[in-house]
Amino acid sequence: MTEPTTLQPWQWPDDHWRKLVDHVRAGRAYRPKQWKGGARCAVALSFDSDHETNELRDGGKSIGRLSWGQYGNRVGVPRILKLLDRYGVHATFYVPAVAALLYPDEQRRVVAEGHEIGIHGWIHELNSVLPYAAERDLLLRAGDTLEKITGTRPVGIRTPSWDFSPNTLAIEQEMGLLYDSSLMADEDCYELLLDGAATGVVELPVEWVRDDAVYFMMHRFQSLRPHTPPREVLDIFRRELDMAYEEGGICQLTMHPHIIGYRSRIFIVEEIIRHAKAKGDVWFATHREVVEWAKANAE
Ligand SMILES: [Zn+2]
Repeated sequence: MTEPTTLQPWQWPDDHWRKLVDHVRAGRAYRPKQWKGGARCAVALSFDSDHETNELRDGGKSIGRLSWGQYGNRVGVPRILKLLDRYGVHATFYVPAVAALLYPDEQRRVVAEGHEIGIHGWIHELNSVLPYAAERDLLLRAGDTLEKITGTRPVGIRTPSWDFSPNTLAIEQEMGLLYDSSLMADEDCYELLLDGAATGVVELPVEWVRDDAVYFMMHRFQSLRPHTPPREVLDIFRRELDMAYEEGGICQLTMHPHIIGYRSRIFIVEEIIRHAKAKGDVWFATHREVVEWAKANAE
C-alpha cells in the first residue's frame, strides 16, 4: 500500500483513506433464524491460555510475572475445566504455540473434554507489526504445533492482540481457516472481505467490553490497576447476555485463566452459565460450532 508519508492525514487524497478503510472489511452477515436445537441465543465462551507468553512476548524475564503465567496452567485452567464440566458446557481455548509446548498435557486434556483449541500466535507476538514472511511462518508453525500436540487441526484463530497486519487475512485464507475471532465490526458473524473480495473466512467478533482483561489487568510498575469490581463485571457480561438473548444473537466472551481463574472472580463464569441456563433455550457452543451453524443456516 502506498503511504503518502509526507502528507498529514487531513491532506490524504480520498483514494488513500478509502483504500485503508476498505482493505479488510465486514461483508455479508451470517445470522441464522434460530440456533441449534431451536435455541434463541448462542453463548460462546472463550479462554485465551496465554500463560507465560504474556511476559515472554515483550522480551520480559521477570520470574514473578512468569510465575503468574504458570498459575494459569496450575490453577486457572483446571478450575475453569472443572466448572465447565459441572455444567456440561463446551468452550474454546486459544493457545499460543509456546504455551502449548510448555503444557502439552493441558491442551490434550482440553480437547479430550470436548473443548476446541484455536490458534493464538507463536509466542503471543504482536503480529500486526511483523513483516509478512515472519508473520506467515509463525502462524503456519503455530497451526502445525497445535495439531501435533492435540491431534486436531485448528480451524480458527484469535490473533494475539486482536489486530491484523495488512497481510494477516491473506495468511488466514491461505491456511484455509474457517474463522477468525479478533475483529469487531458486528455482534453477529460475518464474512471477511479482502480489498472488497469475499475470502470465505468468517469473523466471530470480539469486543473489549466482553474481555475480562480490560477490567482486571494489573502491572506493578505501571499505573495499570483493576478498576472494576468483579460483581460489576458480572453485571456487564450479564447485560450482554440478556440483550443477545432478546435479539436472538451471540453472547461471546473472552476470558483468561490467569485473570478470571481466581477464587474471587470465577463466580462470574458460573453466574453467566447459570443465568443462561435458566433461560432454557440457550445453546452453549464452541466458536467453531457457532460459526459452522451461522454459516450453514444464515438467513
Ligand atoms: Zn492472548
